[in-house]
Amino acid sequence: MTYIIDGHFDLLLDVAVKREQGRRKVIETDFLPEFVAGKVNIIVAAIFIDDKFLPEMGMRKALQQISALHAEASESPEKIMVCKNMNDIQTAKETGRVGFVLSLEGAEPISNDLSMIRLFYELGVRFMGLVWSRRNFVGDGSHFTPKREGRKGGLTDFGVQVVEEAEALGMIIDVSHLNDEGFWDVMEFANKPIIASHSNCRSIVNSMRNLTDEQIKAIASTNGVIGINGVNIFVADTDKDSDLDHLIDHVDHFVKLVGVEHIGLGLDMIEPFLKYDSPESLEDLPRKDFDVVKGHSKIPDLIRVLSKRGYKDEAIERILSKNFLRVYKEVWK
Ligand SMILES: [Zn+2]
Repeated sequence: MTYIIDGHFDLLLDVAVKREQGRRKVIETDFLPEFVAGKVNIIVAAIFIDDKFLPEMGMRKALQQISALHAEASESPEKIMVCKNMNDIQTAKETGRVGFVLSLEGAEPISNDLSMIRLFYELGVRFMGLVWSRRNFVGDGSHFTPKREGRKGGLTDFGVQVVEEAEALGMIIDVSHLNDEGFWDVMEFANKPIIASHSNCRSIVNSMRNLTDEQIKAIASTNGVIGINGVNIFVADTDKDSDLDHLIDHVDHFVKLVGVEHIGLGLDMIEPFLKYDSPESLEDLPRKDFDVVKGHSKIPDLIRVLSKRGYKDEAIERILSKNFLRVYKEVWK
């Protein structure tokens, strides 16, 4: 069997908090059993910074999360490792370890300093998610649901330089959370394959966080990949419909538009981290968030539904990892 890659998971926030409280081997204890049960080989570990830490603490919180991952890898050397290149990805698989690749979910930690991109690269960050769902020095994010706001912009001049510098270093540009104006700017200024690590189809669920058909085609034209997102509000319009079958409707739509070569997994499991949202902020949401794929141990269920829906092993292997691996190989150094 092939590799299984989850192209987006926010575990480092949780790991860093628990380590601050004195715990060690958090990944081995709290997360590894799920990865092993689901036969997951590679996790793209997102560095996410909560609004309340910005701007002053953005860099520090990012470095704490990176430090936490490296510390965890040294505490559980036989079980997990940090991956920075294709060799590491292969080593993780061959030695039966789960490999972690670092990703920025929003460029806030670099602030407005281009030279910080190399620093994060040297620390192992291989994905540049330009924005989260808010504005930063690079550009504007797309909200989960419409908000009262003024006119949006595309990439700033600094944002264009970030795209160019990140690509020059060998980082993959990630457009999930970017607004439409910024998306099309990336298409103009980037030269390598582009990914949307965790985004679905807007023609199925009309959220700005999902991609229009034109955007899906544009990503495919760069030979890039889109990771399907398992959060209910991006899967279907009602909670009742938010299930594996409706998640695979997005796969069908991607395939219809651009073929199976441009789909991956970016499941974005959030239930383990909802405890960090205040009850008040959860109260304000029109729908309560939940995971359609309830833990990495449930990935075999997702594979069964793909198979039931007519996807052959070769197509499933592409979705589970081969497509993302193609992009890693082409962009990383
Ligand atoms: Zn996200």
